[in-house]
Amino acid sequence: MDFTLSEEQLMIQQAARDFANNELLPGVIERDDAQKFPFELVRKMGELGFMGMMVNEKYNGSGLDTLSYVLAMEELSKIDASASVMVSVNNSLVCWGLQAFGTEAQKEKYLTRLSTGEVIGAFCLSEPEAGSDATSQKTTAIDHGDHYILNGTKNWITNGGSAEVFLVIAQTHAEKGHKGINVLIVEKGMEGFEVGPKENKLGIRGSDTHSLNFNDVKVPKENRIGEDGFGFTFAMKTLAGGRIGIAAQALGIAAGAYELALKYSKVRKTFGTEIANHQAIAFKLADMHTKIQAARNLVYQAACDKDAGKDYTLSGAMAKLYASEVAMETTIEAVQIHGGNGYVKDYHVERLMRDAKITQIYEGTSEIQKIVISRSVLKD
Ligand SMILES: Cc1cc2nc3c(=O)[nH]c(=O)nc-3n(C[C@H](O)[C@H](O)[C@H](O)COP(=O)(O)OP(=O)(O)OC[C@H]3O[C@@H](n4cnc5c(N)ncnc54)[C@H](O)[C@@H]3O)c2cc1C
Repeated sequence: MDFTLSEEQLMIQQAARDFANNELLPGVIERDDAQKFPFELVRKMGELGFMGMMVNEKYNGSGLDTLSYVLAMEELSKIDASASVMVSVNNSLVCWGLQAFGTEAQKEKYLTRLSTGEVIGAFCLSEPEAGSDATSQKTTAIDHGDHYILNGTKNWITNGGSAEVFLVIAQTHAEKGHKGINVLIVEKGMEGFEVGPKENKLGIRGSDTHSLNFNDVKVPKENRIGEDGFGFTFAMKTLAGGRIGIAAQALGIAAGAYELALKYSKVRKTFGTEIANHQAIAFKLADMHTKIQAARNLVYQAACDKDAGKDYTLSGAMAKLYASEVAMETTIEAVQIHGGNGYVKDYHVERLMRDAKITQIYEGTSEIQKIVISRSVLKD
């Protein structure tokens, strides 16, 4: 495969790199400490076109391909994975889903504002008893003619406290199982919709994760995306693309930690020489570099499959599984290379290590990716 980047893709990569270094880096430690969501930075990312990267220009998007999106995700994630998860959810799960399956009226009303970052979106599938087993939806959307009545609880919702547009998956026809599930557009402020307290997390602490409660929320039928019963398919299709974004996030976390470790190894001296001259450290760097490049190839491959209109379920799952493993391994080694300095906040690698872990959990755990991959290889 030839992954030579076009002029435009190189420009996007550079713009994301500049933004991450100039705007995300200052304050990233404080935001992590205080669990502070970066509203002002979201607005700026919207101005740069990062909030609706793959959305058609007709709906105020940037009209870019998936490869451009993963390039931006990698650069943002090198510095601030809390900001990049918010970008990933808005782009892959909310904007892409609305563009692919929404009605013209839904696109006009919601997508045009989501793609500029004027408002942020959230994707609400997980529940206390429906994480990996997403078919076990307990949230109900009961059909009342021209509207649905929504009841239930969603867990772990990224952008939960900051979003204004929520794509909520719920069971309408329990007897039909996953074929009776719908996806509804819920707006912040609808009567009966409450946002629960913010989760106090290990990593991506600057991102905004909440539970959500729906108590007899009246949602107009025109807010349903797709045909009756399309909700589970919608969720699986959007998540297949979302995994490419999270794979790119994992790649960025790994690459960010590696770059810091490489730099540090050239200045820190022990036993009269830079630690990079100790083979034990040099070999760690060699392993990190090799694995990151392998992860990058998988991520780019999945993005190119999506851009070429090919099935990207398998390549996306492989990219997420491997890149998230590499993120975890690389960040642990980056802390080790920094010695005691790696264990304190000022050197950034401890935060990257904490942030890496989530990439093995959300949008399908590593075990779930292996189920997807093994089903695919066993089918042949
Ligand atoms: C910070 C954060 C942000 C999130 N953001 C969102 C969001 O925006 N929207 C959303 O809908 N969800 C979100 N999630 C939820 C996330 O997708 C789920 O946590 C994840 O899918 C795992 O589900 P669970 O937590 O219920 O774990 P469980 O499903 O209970 O899994 C527990 C363990 O069992 C393993 N396991 C489960 N089933 C199998 C099996 N069949 N075979 C082998 N192993 C298995 C899992 O891999 C895991 O190791 C977020 C979660 C977190 C922590």
